[in-house]
Amino acid sequence: MTRTAVVLFSGGQDSTTCLAVALKKYDAVYTMGVAYGQRHAVELECRKRILEKIESVLGTHSLRSDLVLDLKAFGSLSDCSLTRPGEMIAMNPKTHLPNTFVPGRNLIFLTYAAAYAWKVGAEAVWTGVGEADYSGYPDCRENTMKALELAIDLGMETDLRIERPLMHRSKAETWLLAEETGGDALVDFIRRETHTCYEGDHEHFHEWGYGCGKCPACVLRAKGWEEYRAGRDAGRVARK
Ligand code: ZN
Repeated sequence: MTRTAVVLFSGGQDSTTCLAVALKKYDAVYTMGVAYGQRHAVELECRKRILEKIESVLGTHSLRSDLVLDLKAFGSLSDCSLTRPGEMIAMNPKTHLPNTFVPGRNLIFLTYAAAYAWKVGAEAVWTGVGEADYSGYPDCRENTMKALELAIDLGMETDLRIERPLMHRSKAETWLLAEETGGDALVDFIRRETHTCYEGDHEHFHEWGYGCGKCPACVLRAKGWEEYRAGRDAGRVARK
């Protein structure tokens, strides 16, 4: 039997790591991205390049088609700094959430991915959400994923799994997972090809990858890389 999965793939470090793990595990992997008026088209360009090259790095032949859903209608509802140009990233004093939080984003995207999984006969949807670093995002938490999985299974009368391998991993541990999955070649590939920066900076290259080096996403990525490197130098990254 062909084992099939759908991977929610944005072109960032986390979803690229998930994609690599899924490519090793399944016979057929379908990727899905979402265009909802993100501030930076650079993410969508990165994902194209990654999809072209990742299997040559991994030596797999599982990648099937890519689907980019046009969800601009969703983007028009949200009011946050990732979708509105020129706004500074900060904490919202009323909600105590970062203004990069897009209400409902993961709930909507995963529901679409589940419908796609149904269509292609996939047993699981993979997502790079996690609560170790982004505990500020309520739609990335384990309880939210459990509830959504149950809602999808009831509402679609299926037993689709939402696979979330990064749920309890720090950024350093995510680099380690990439190393375990595809060795130094994959770590290097993710470092060079993925995009995380909130400011859309894909010109300045650092040891940890491209980015402005100042926004919260860059700071987190740089910190994770340093921890991962330090762990490697010490023999291994300490697991929780
Ligand atoms: Zn940045």
